[in-house]
Amino acid sequence: MNPLQNADLHCHSTVSDGTLSPEDLAARASGNGVELWALTDHDEISGQHRAAAAAKTHGMRYLTGTEISVTFIGQTVHIVGLGFDADDIQLREGLRRTRGGREERAMEMSAGLAKVGIQGAYEGALKFVGNPELISRTHFARFLVESGVCKETNEVFRKYLTEGKPGFVPHRWASLKDAVGWITGAGGMAIIAHPARYKFTPNEEFALFTEFKALGGQGVEVVTGSHTVSEYATYADTAREFGLAASRGSDFHSPDESHTELGTLPFLPANLTPVWDVLASRIQ
Ligand code: AMP
Ligand code: MN
Ligand code: MN
Ligand code: MN
Repeated sequence: MNPLQNADLHCHSTVSDGTLSPEDLAARASGNGVELWALTDHDEISGQHRAAAAAKTHGMRYLTGTEISVTFIGQTVHIVGLGFDADDIQLREGLRRTRGGREERAMEMSAGLAKVGIQGAYEGALKFVGNPELISRTHFARFLVESGVCKETNEVFRKYLTEGKPGFVPHRWASLKDAVGWITGAGGMAIIAHPARYKFTPNEEFALFTEFKALGGQGVEVVTGSHTVSEYATYADTAREFGLAASRGSDFHSPDESHTELGTLPFLPANLTPVWDVLASRIQ
């Protein structure tokens, strides 16, 4: 296989905070020419068997996937897992615990929003939730757009749902060690998602990559819907510097909200090892 392949290894369904079912996502990915696909719901793998079956009907190759929420030096970092055994007990149990605090966090978010005059946000967000164990900020954002408080979800995050804003509730997610351990323990590869999104100092970012690598992490997203073209080059260098394989994924959530469509990003830069080369034996 080679870097010039239409692999889309990062997207979300109704099993987490996407608006399409795994089956509809598979159809859309295939329609856009995706050859190798992975569904990576936040802290969830219950859509994996459906996604793999749907990929098969469209003639796409498939890698199992997830995106685990981790707390590292006070920030939320996302770790994508690919090519694991979706029936692995430790992974399933670890993800179940990671999902555990979301309900309470959502109630606190709602209380924070009520203080600035936005009533009923918890109930409102729930209408958009596809999986009762996975209420996320995205569902609150959809409610605030629907109720006319903001024009689009990006604006909701900026005004209400990010650090220091009324609907933001700090949360402790999984540790980096646990997330990488669950993924690799289930036979998969751990990958740092969209590294340019974090607000780390250069030293903190170095610590993230160093610790991740030491824990058995093997990949980094280089071409993602969250990166600019110049960030592709920055993290291609980081991948080479740390000896990490490179991944590519749109992070597609919804036809109405996502600015990056499934399977439409540029190919990986040359001189990188694609994650799908390392994971060749795990492709279904
Ligand atoms: P949570 O896991 O509940 O903290 O929600 C995180 C999710 O919110 C991410 O996976 C994104 O889908 C979404 N998100 C975060 N920041 C933004 C933003 N600025 N604009 C739109 N969506 C965002
Ligand atoms: Mn999301
Ligand atoms: Mn993410
Ligand atoms: Mn994502």
